[in-house]
Amino acid sequence: MSPDAKKVDDRPHVVVLGAGFGGLTAAKALASVPVRVTVLDRTNHHTFQPLLYQVATAGLSASEIAQPIRGILGAHRNTTVLMAEASGVDLDARRVHLVGGDSVDWDYLIVACGAETSYFGHDDWRSVAPGLKSVEDALVIRERVLEAFEHAENEAVTEHRGDPLSFVVIGGGPTGVELAGAVAELAKRVIQRDFRGIDPSKARVRLIEAGPRILPSFAPDLSERAVAQLGQLGVEVLTGARVTGIEPGIVQLEHDRIECSVVLWAAGVAANPLTSRLGVAVDRGGRVLVERDLSIPGHPRAFVIGDAARLDGPDGKPLPGLSPVAMQQARTVAKSIRGALEGKPAVVFSYVDKGQLATIGRVRAIAQLARVHLSGFVAWMTWLLVHIFYLIGFKNRIVVMVVWAWSYLTYRRGSRLIVSRRSIEDVERTAASAEPSAR
Ligand SMILES: Cc1cc2nc3c(=O)[nH]c(=O)nc-3n(C[C@H](O)[C@H](O)[C@H](O)COP(=O)(O)OP(=O)(O)OC[C@H]3O[C@@H](n4cnc5c(N)ncnc54)[C@H](O)[C@@H]3O)c2cc1C
Repeated sequence: MSPDAKKVDDRPHVVVLGAGFGGLTAAKALASVPVRVTVLDRTNHHTFQPLLYQVATAGLSASEIAQPIRGILGAHRNTTVLMAEASGVDLDARRVHLVGGDSVDWDYLIVACGAETSYFGHDDWRSVAPGLKSVEDALVIRERVLEAFEHAENEAVTEHRGDPLSFVVIGGGPTGVELAGAVAELAKRVIQRDFRGIDPSKARVRLIEAGPRILPSFAPDLSERAVAQLGQLGVEVLTGARVTGIEPGIVQLEHDRIECSVVLWAAGVAANPLTSRLGVAVDRGGRVLVERDLSIPGHPRAFVIGDAARLDGPDGKPLPGLSPVAMQQARTVAKSIRGALEGKPAVVFSYVDKGQLATIGRVRAIAQLARVHLSGFVAWMTWLLVHIFYLIGFKNRIVVMVVWAWSYLTYRRGSRLIVSRRSIEDVERTAASAEPSAR
């Protein structure tokens, strides 16, 4: 062997597909395992999705909630990061195919490719009503919201027209609630003095939910408290309202029609379309039906975790699409891989439910932590601490927390720039068209 030739690394090769909450946690948990790890992601950054709505409503800038994957995993000597998009997986040949024609072989595979926005088969709604799943989506929404105010001001000043601004958010899950609250706060509390021709505080914000109540994954008393807190922000909540059509400026309901300046979609997600190309059983939402150890049936060395996996909890309901599920599953799979190298059986996954939180504009939230139900400021403080704590890859979380909390409490909005006229087609190109499932 020539002195320059690299020593062949014969440690088992683990390919982690996706560097979201699940993929990053898996790579970190494998740092001390005698394997070499390759993390593949189509972007170069990890996105902290729980704070996307803040970027979409100009509260935070993109770099405050997204971090380069290389920076996060740089200290892990056994890990290589590749920015590449997987186009398919050959489970029998143990190979991931990449867009562009290359491929990567694996001894163990962890599919953690997450979910995408779903329009229940109405893909034509996508360009009118953007969803919120990535930094790109958040920037598209931010642009639309800010441009709506600019457009209304132009009309008011040049044509003396005073059509009221109206925002509609479709979907009363946590994302819809957070978006509606933040849009209302932006209009009514943050920029209300910035315009001369219009009064932004007169903007109507409506949250539309097809089901009987918003936030159905929370206890009914917390749903009610969320409606009350949204009301304090001026958000009108319409439940039992099924959307049957969306066109520019119009949301059609079964028995009503709403004219609006901006429509935002937060009503459905489906697993990443890669899952339906694995050639294995998936549920209606495209999630892979995994074994209790999170492996793909018949393929004990290939695992699916997070939003891309379907596993039912002890109550018979599918585990929710939440970051703790993805992270706990990642640790379980890492344990199984470590064990497999020592000849031990795979570890069965058991979810530890630590509760759920949703924020409602500034300083309001609801929190369901086992039997403890919190709302208002206490819930918001809990939400703030939890989210800062989990901001992956941010070196100094305390400094980030202080800076962010200060700008949040003082209504400073540094991210109100309209910097590009990116077309929604950019987002469409990467979007999925699988069947929907609830977040
Ligand atoms: C707006 C919003 C708010 C949320 N708020 C909360 C919250 O408050 N609390 C909470 O617990 N959960 C929240 N969630 C849900 C949470 O973010 C997800 O459950 C979690 O991200 C799932 O982790 P994952 O690893 O399965 O997928 P993700 O974190 O989505 O990561 C998937 C990764 O795979 C990559 N990828 C996808 N396809 C390919 C491909 N073909 N090739 C290469 N790479 C690919 C993507 O780029 C991405 O980096 C929220 C989600 C959204 C959208």
